[in-house]
Amino acid sequence: MHEMSIAISIVEAVETKAREEGAARVSGVDLLVGKLAGIEPESLKFCFSAAAKGTLAEEALLAIEEPEGTGECGECGMTFPVNFYYAECPGCRSLRIKIISGEEFLIQSITIEEEGE
Ligand SMILES: [Zn+2]
Repeated sequence: MHEMSIAISIVEAVETKAREEGAARVSGVDLLVGKLAGIEPESLKFCFSAAAKGTLAEEALLAIEEPEGTGECGECGMTFPVNFYYAECPGCRSLRIKIISGEEFLIQSITIEEEGE
């Protein structure tokens, strides 16, 4: 279950950032996880809440945006939606496809709460 190790690295990155900002806690984390990133969003959410226990991100809400996959044909240059790695060009049936989006995985932003008085 590699979502767990991903969740742990997200929590670490978020906590580091939150400490730099002097946050009391993290209330939200926005992630970008492409459809072709090989990460199961529901599983990641579950792992995140487990990994965040006892950290500043314990109560953070995880929001996941999932961009669709797009491929570009290496033969005819056509771009088209891709759901799998082994895509075929709908124009010329070539298998020389370059994935141009959908593999993204990044933390877009985090929402922190400052220390109260
Ligand atoms: Zn093509």
